[in-house]
Amino acid sequence: MIEVRNLTKRYGNKLAVDNISFSVDKGEILGFLGPNGAGKSTTMNILTGYLSSTDGQALIDGIDILEDPVRAKKLIGYLPEQPPLYMDMTVMEYLKFVYRLKKCKLPIISHLNEICRLVKIEEVKNRLIRNLSKGYKQRVGVAQALVGNPPVLILDEPTVGLDPKQILEIRTLIKKLGKNHTVILSSHILPEVQAVCDKIVIINRGKIAADDSTESLSQHMDGNSRLIIRCEGKPDEVVKALNGLSGLESIRINKENVEPGVSEYYINTKEGTDLRRDVSKRLSSRGYTIVMMKSGELTLEEIFLKITTGDIYGKVDDDTVIQGKKKGGRK
Ligand code: ADP
Ligand code: MG
Repeated sequence: MIEVRNLTKRYGNKLAVDNISFSVDKGEILGFLGPNGAGKSTTMNILTGYLSSTDGQALIDGIDILEDPVRAKKLIGYLPEQPPLYMDMTVMEYLKFVYRLKKCKLPIISHLNEICRLVKIEEVKNRLIRNLSKGYKQRVGVAQALVGNPPVLILDEPTVGLDPKQILEIRTLIKKLGKNHTVILSSHILPEVQAVCDKIVIINRGKIAADDSTESLSQHMDGNSRLIIRCEGKPDEVVKALNGLSGLESIRINKENVEPGVSEYYINTKEGTDLRRDVSKRLSSRGYTIVMMKSGELTLEEIFLKITTGDIYGKVDDDTVIQGKKKGGRK
């Protein structure tokens, strides 16, 4: 349904999107995941015909967005990062305005009422947009994307700035819309795309770092786990004491001084191993007292690093110890 081929976008000298390709099948919800500045909005603006690409192609249902923008745009409902809302209109006035703008042919009143029902804004239909909460404004943004009943929805960070309850509501709505639309949803929040999407494309610095089903990416991400401990004793000796524990992959010492006489360690463990008890027993039997221990989930940055370099630390500094051996020098 959506096909992106070797898309590249430069802003002057700045390469914002670097030769990316991916596709979305009919009825799929694709999560477009990446940190700020990764190139998500740029890609979405190209897909929706708001921006031209420097190179490459974007096809919506086989139609090239550059060759036939009018036909391609008819297939897309777009919620940009900043929804184009008119604050001085009521919700209904605004939706009618969008209806005319899109030259929609569906029966106006029943079509717009149906959208309001679907996104749950019936009770604010006659209120000025200016007076709506951020959550309602965002739903009005989704509503304008749905005018004309386009089969494809492109939603740019639809939950940014919402409170946790509103986030859940928007996620539920997107899942519902996914039942009869093809959806691309961008986000910089991993759990969000994991919760909503069938497939995830990870973009980092304009390049695709991963493209996989949510299921297999989640397994990949859960494969390594991390333990963070704070322990008394000299760092070198503590690391030595842990050396040889089965399931241990690497230990990194946090250089920051956390408390007098106490150091912090990031312990990276192998697939599915829970080393909490072994670490605790080993250290206490050698006379080192653990003053804090927690399981640390990988951050989005670490996941990128893991996917792109195979190591969650990316650049490994001299303090990283792999099974007792210093691993310095690798860059
Ligand atoms: P994201 O949506 O993932 O946060 P963007 O697509 O907005 O990323 O931006 C990608 C990169 O392109 C960033 O480095 C950003 O600073 C740059 N960029 C975006 N828009 C412009 C522009 N109009 N002119 C110059 N650089 C831009
Ligand atoms: Mg953006």
